Amino acid sequence: MTYIYVLGPCYSCGALFSFNPHLVPSVPVLEDGTIARGGTREPICRTCATLANRHRARLGLPLWNVSDEAYEPTEAL
Ligand SMILES: [Zn+2]
Repeated sequence: MTYIYVLGPCYSCGALFSFNPHLVPSVPVLEDGTIARGGTREPICRTCATLANRHRARLGLPLWNVSDEAYEPTEAL
């Protein structure tokens, strides 16, 4: 079996982390750095995703559904 694992910087904190590109939480970022629909999806690390969900909970917003496998290797097809 072959697995893939992506290494990249977290858009929020800049830390390098590895993730499953199909499951990692991400935000859409425009070329000017604005977070908006239609932007390129940029990954968010586990720590920042947890912090974002705490903040969203305080604001009464729906939480991101973060898969247990979002930060694990995925099998290549
Ligand atoms: Zn982060």
